[in-house]
Amino acid sequence: MRTIPALFGPYGGAAVEFLDRFERYGANALWFHGFDPAAFDACAQHGVAACVEFKTFRADFAARPELIPLGVDCQPIRYGRLVQGVCLSQQDFLEEITADLVAGLREFQPAGIWLDYLTHAGWFEVPDPDLQDSCFCAACVADFCTATGLDTTSPEEILRTAAKQWERHNCERIAVFAGQYADLIHAYLPDCVVGAYMCPWRPEEFDRALSRIFAQDYAMLAPAIDVFTPLIYCAKSGRGPGWGREFLEASAAFVPHDRPVQLILDAKDFPASLRETAASDHASRGLQVFDGAAIFRDSHLSAEFAAAVEQIQRQPSAGQ
Ligand SMILES: [Zn+2]
Repeated sequence: MRTIPALFGPYGGAAVEFLDRFERYGANALWFHGFDPAAFDACAQHGVAACVEFKTFRADFAARPELIPLGVDCQPIRYGRLVQGVCLSQQDFLEEITADLVAGLREFQPAGIWLDYLTHAGWFEVPDPDLQDSCFCAACVADFCTATGLDTTSPEEILRTAAKQWERHNCERIAVFAGQYADLIHAYLPDCVVGAYMCPWRPEEFDRALSRIFAQDYAMLAPAIDVFTPLIYCAKSGRGPGWGREFLEASAAFVPHDRPVQLILDAKDFPASLRETAASDHASRGLQVFDGAAIFRDSHLSAEFAAAVEQIQRQPSAGQ
């Protein structure tokens, strides 16, 4: 099994200008969007681990309406300014994702690649999510029937009589893609860490929406995913600053024990959420900070971050 280094640092290319301060404040990694040549160069110059956030199932629905999943009424799902997830029967789009990944792997050697939007459709970074079952297009329903041996074309009947099979099938579908992407990554870069950004809800929350709506199942994903990264954006999600600590301490009940959890916190929630996370009995394996350039723009936050990194690394559970 790959050893998973404890990587600490900001998410966001804007932090490149602060790379010369990383070491002073305990940061050793930078996460950035896509295979960004300038970010790779800058990380190499400063001896910082370059980690890619790789977009999977997200697209501009205005430009690509064929990718919009269908709801139980066989109409395109409702969505607002932000939405993730696509109809997973759209082969051309799936081939584009694979081609983007292979193109990056041929040219760059990231320390890690975190798969983003590896979910069914919706948006979870809000206090009051609009949760919809999907995708009930003819091709996705046919795929379900082939996989389960059931014979139906009615979304309503599926949810009424076979909801568990539907949920399991969708989770398996997402997990199969995770496996394909992980295999591709390791074919080029055997030591590359494969992470996944996760819906940050515990399995029972919102009537089990983690698996029922977003089709993320930790146990099914674990063979492909080395480290799980829930998006702990407290203010955006209407949660208190202790959410990250609470997630870590609850995670042993649903995250396979040989798979570490590495939180991504939102700089907007600092320093309170950072202090709470650092105090967790169940240490985060490294730490990402969304809009992480903010850490380095404020000397108080820089010091807070450095102290949190030290505290996390001192935890007896930090190396497990
Ligand atoms: Zn579909």
